[in-house]
Amino acid sequence: MAWKLALVLVVLVVGGVVGANVGWAYVLGPVLGWMVYRFIVGNLRGLAHGARMGAPGDDEVLDPTAVDPDERTLFWCEECGTEVLLLVRGTSRPPSHCGQRMHERTELLRPS
Ligand SMILES: [Zn+2]
Repeated sequence: MAWKLALVLVVLVVGGVVGANVGWAYVLGPVLGWMVYRFIVGNLRGLAHGARMGAPGDDEVLDPTAVDPDERTLFWCEECGTEVLLLVRGTSRPPSHCGQRMHERTELLRPS
């Protein structure tokens, strides 16, 4: 614990000397860069783990499996008409668009 205090003191003294002699931009720039880096990494980590819109537990998480090749599943947005083709189903909950759940439509493909 004492070595952490000594390290903080050394960093403060070195930062003060560099800031007073060379310029405070050389001390505050890396600190600001580190803070921005931490902010971005934290946000990306939150996105990677999936921000949930609904109440927890309202959907069933499935094993990511490919959909049936004889079917084509589309989700469409009632508000703006956007359609999304489902390639891999990861959850039973439909995706959202325009702030609403999209409607699922399954088409059976004609055998060729
Ligand atoms: Zn939409």
